Amino acid sequence: QDSRKYTGIVEDCCCDYETIDSVNEAVLHPLLQELVKTPFFRYFKVKLWCDCPFWPDDGMCKLRDCSVCECPENEFPEPFKKAMLNGLPSDDLKCQEGNQQDVVDRTLDTKAFMGWIEVDNPWTHDDETDNREMTYVNLQLNPERYTGYTGASARRIWDAIYSENCPKYSSGEICPEKRVLYKLISGLHSSISIHIASDYLIDEIKNLWGRNLELMYDRVFRFPDRVRNLYFTFMFVLRAVAKAAPYLEHAEYNTGNLEEDLKAQSLMRQLVYNPKLQAACPLPFDEAKLWQGQSGPELKLEIQKSFKNIRQVNSKFCALMDCVGCEKCRLWGKLQVLGLGTALKILFSVDGENQQNFPVQLQRNEVIALVNLLHRLSESVKLVQELGPSVEQTVDGL
Ligand code: FAD
Repeated sequence: QDSRKYTGIVEDCCCDYETIDSVNEAVLHPLLQELVKTPFFRYFKVKLWCDCPFWPDDGMCKLRDCSVCECPENEFPEPFKKAMLNGLPSDDLKCQEGNQQDVVDRTLDTKAFMGWIEVDNPWTHDDETDNREMTYVNLQLNPERYTGYTGASARRIWDAIYSENCPKYSSGEICPEKRVLYKLISGLHSSISIHIASDYLIDEIKNLWGRNLELMYDRVFRFPDRVRNLYFTFMFVLRAVAKAAPYLEHAEYNTGNLEEDLKAQSLMRQLVYNPKLQAACPLPFDEAKLWQGQSGPELKLEIQKSFKNIRQVNSKFCALMDCVGCEKCRLWGKLQVLGLGTALKILFSVDGENQQNFPVQLQRNEVIALVNLLHRLSESVKLVQELGPSVEQTVDGL
């Protein structure tokens, strides 16, 4: 039986599913897997405090102690302890935080971290450097996985993200530019769901983690559109990384650990100038195809406005991440939104294909987010290839 799931060209992209799968498996995923382990890419600077500017009546974000990691056990709110003993917190628990699996491990590897503080801001425009509420997190110690965060609070965030960035258009033709926004968010959502299901708490008492294929199927595989959007988002971010190659190639991957930093630089070069990738899929996504219609310039402005929304730290989209009522989800939510914003910044602030001159300045944290996002997407695509049913086998299949 043909094991191929999705065939043809990824919508609005320039490569087909088969090629993406094979190049991802052979080249991209192994490279990214190594790259995200290097000290430069494994430490992400982030503000984890829950400071949600929306829904003041929620209660969820008023409780700063929800950010449990740093409080000693005796300060841990009593109801959460109970919730942990009796199983997952119930939906009506005001603060969603308090699951063990939700807590961010802030342990830093001091050896690998040596020298990092001194070179804290080797790149320009790192406007978050002085923010005292920021903390470094070792992403390797905090994998994106199931946390037990669910229910009305989680759903409300997703609803807000979709409605804020993807206004519902009257039926009829939707221009590709507007579809791009929706597909990017949906693709990211698919990827997050796949990671939740692939690293799931199967047995809480035995603390047994594993794959929950049923959940993966229910949330993503049975909706071919969600799978397609995942591939689209992967191609989009891959294109951004390739476009930023002249910048990424020469960037200083300086953490004070020479050997590891040289490795990061070498892996980055292998990634952005990969001959296999260039031969198989030279242009994963063609942003130049957008904005060509009659209302092109007007649309570009409109979309740039929405994109700006996404990438500005104080924008609603980012601020929404502060409303995510689970610390680890917030960490990965913030990282991936920043990564997506960085991809958008690269693709839509740089016109033309001038490889010599890459006028966009990127912050260190943006590059870390971009690469880790690409890795997350690459892993999700690999899981679809390995575990996903064929389109025909899905409920909503063609
Ligand atoms: P949800 O995933 O909440 O989806 C809500 C609705 O959106 C669905 O009913 C469907 O109508 C629509 N939808 C779902 N997927 C797609 C798609 N791909 N494209 C278009 N529409 C879609 N939980 C964890 O356990 N670990 C995490 O690391 C984690 N990170 C999160 C990060 C963020 C930013 C957010 C907002 C939530 C996160 N969550 C995490 C929660 C998780 O995403 C789900 O919200 C939760 O598991 C409940 O899932 P659900 O089945 O209710 O559907």
